[in-house]
Amino acid sequence: MSFDRRFELPNFDDMDVDLTACENCDFECGTIGYCLDECGENYIICTLFMDKGYNIANKDWGRSSDGKLIPGVEIYKNQTQKFMKAMSKLGHTCTTYNHPLGKSYLNTVIIDGGVEPIDLALDFLEMEAIK
Ligand SMILES: [Zn+2]
Repeated sequence: MSFDRRFELPNFDDMDVDLTACENCDFECGTIGYCLDECGENYIICTLFMDKGYNIANKDWGRSSDGKLIPGVEIYKNQTQKFMKAMSKLGHTCTTYNHPLGKSYLNTVIIDGGVEPIDLALDFLEMEAIK
């Protein structure tokens, strides 16, 4: 087991997604290749990013200027510019947030003012990979 694994990997055969858990769920499990109910949002976000060459990505929260918690994705700082560029090509605007006591090599990217990252799964699937 690798040191940075935060969750158990489900065992899927290729893109054959088990959609039995998808009742009452409008997430595009079949398109994304992972079922939200089966895998959880952080697993899906992390996997989609890693497929594009990112080291790691985790659902995270930043803070707006008036102190509200807003969802975002925590990634490596040195991959942030590329991510923001890839997302801007898809029509999204990103800002970064640094946790006051956070790890210096990570930051949180807020997309379109705080869209839930899992709602952008299709865009993460489409975005340009890191070279
Ligand atoms: Zn599902």
